[in-house]
Amino acid sequence: MEMPEPRPEILANKAGLIARLQSVLSRDAVIEDPAETQAYECDALVAYKCAPLAVVLPSSTEEVAAVLRICNDMGIPVVPRGSGTSLAGGALPTADCVILGIARMNDVLETDYDNRIIRVQSGRTNLSVTGAVEEEDFFYAPDPSSQLACAIAGNIAMNSGGAHCLKYGVTTNNLLGVTMVMMDGTVIELGGAHLDAGGLDLLGLICGSEGQLGVVTEATLRILAKPEGARPVLMGFDSNEVAGACVSDIIKAGVLPVAIEFMDRPCIRATEAFAGAGYPDCEALLIVEVEGSDAEIDEQLALILKIARRHSPVELRESRSAEESARIWLGRKSAFGAMGQINDYMCLDGTIPVSQLPFVLRRIAEMSGEYGLDVGNVFHAGDGNMHPLILYDANKPGDLEKCEALGAEILKLCVEVGGCLTGEHGVGIEKRDLMTTQFTHDDLDIQMAVKDVFDPKWLLNPAKVFPLDVSGPRRAA
Ligand SMILES: Cc1cc2nc3c(=O)[nH]c(=O)nc-3n(C[C@H](O)[C@H](O)[C@H](O)COP(=O)(O)OP(=O)(O)OC[C@H]3O[C@@H](n4cnc5c(N)ncnc54)[C@H](O)[C@@H]3O)c2cc1C
Repeated sequence: MEMPEPRPEILANKAGLIARLQSVLSRDAVIEDPAETQAYECDALVAYKCAPLAVVLPSSTEEVAAVLRICNDMGIPVVPRGSGTSLAGGALPTADCVILGIARMNDVLETDYDNRIIRVQSGRTNLSVTGAVEEEDFFYAPDPSSQLACAIAGNIAMNSGGAHCLKYGVTTNNLLGVTMVMMDGTVIELGGAHLDAGGLDLLGLICGSEGQLGVVTEATLRILAKPEGARPVLMGFDSNEVAGACVSDIIKAGVLPVAIEFMDRPCIRATEAFAGAGYPDCEALLIVEVEGSDAEIDEQLALILKIARRHSPVELRESRSAEESARIWLGRKSAFGAMGQINDYMCLDGTIPVSQLPFVLRRIAEMSGEYGLDVGNVFHAGDGNMHPLILYDANKPGDLEKCEALGAEILKLCVEVGGCLTGEHGVGIEKRDLMTTQFTHDDLDIQMAVKDVFDPKWLLNPAKVFPLDVSGPRRAA
């Protein structure tokens, strides 16, 4: 993975930078000791590592603005960081950057149940947003599997999704407003406590902008009343293609489950060994969950089960209790951890039209054989968001490069069948160099012109999203 060379003049002036940062932050909010900055050397894409020059942990929007003014003035690159769970290397430092971590900014600022909103500082973790409102029977819908750890700031930057986003939409569909600090320290408010806003959809632009345009410090989020009930059904099939066709038929029938999750045999076996959820030993497994009153659930499940039976499932298991529901979800929720027990893995994130699932799964299996690397598939099938997990051995010379090449082939296939390079994890560095397979140079030029407006010196989150050769002239200028 190519990264720009650190600028020697920045490295040489570390003491000057630290002195200025300490003049606007408390001492314990500026980390400069290499033994401590090393903790920030990577995010969840652990294949790539680089310790930053320094780390700052501000506590307020004003402190974030003060830090950015200093870095802008001194020409120091800044990498915004939430909880560091990005699977795309979105928060990977460069050796001459300051990591701006917002983990200390995690307060609830306002809850308004009449208007169904909550306003939080952006360092608050996803799950603790629901934690703040669940006593009143409300919840925050986007639910990345990393929700115990990941921050709302990272969710906004990556436009994160989750298992239940089939029904409720991803972050952008549940975000009403942000407070954001631009690289020059200007604080702006976008959106508000209401649906939509006048003028251009700048909030839509910020959501998914991967720390390229500003540092989000506060967010106004939509909260929803908890549904009366939810019930999952587990379905086993003897081929990936048949399970994929079943997903396609459920979506086509117009019924809207809250989640349709898919696991293939390698993932099923790994999770069984890890979590013992009692899954059948079959080729492919679907978890389909519906919500509503008992009568609504019965009606939706009757239709879904009728469709499933047409595909000759080897197992159909409808949950009859909260314990059974938890067991059905147990394996799916532990799938990433289970795969990590087998070997190192890289988790991809391409999106495809649902009807292409059977073909793409077959091609992935063929490519896995050609490259000699095992691939497990566990993903949000209802919205065509695939997560092939490529197993490799980080200690085996050449394995990472082989894994990168296979990953690139799979993502190119997603684009070829009418899909997209990323569904919810973002581009980061992982898919940076593949952007030209989806976008022309003119397309990328327009996207970079947007960054020019927000961050004219190109200091925010360097070397992410835009291929280095394409962004080179702008970065050099
Ligand atoms: C086990 C596991 C499961 C996962 N499951 C899912 C899933 O189901 N769905 C999903 O969508 N993702 C998933 N992810 C990926 C990851 O959790 C999400 O991308 C998450 O939103 C990242 O949040 P974070 O706070 O950790 O951000 P970080 O990793 O710290 O940063 C992510 C990006 O956000 C930017 N950023 C951080 N803070 C700010 C800020 N204040 N202002 C502007 N930009 C900022 C960073 O620069 C970076 O580009 C998973 C990750 C793991 C490890």
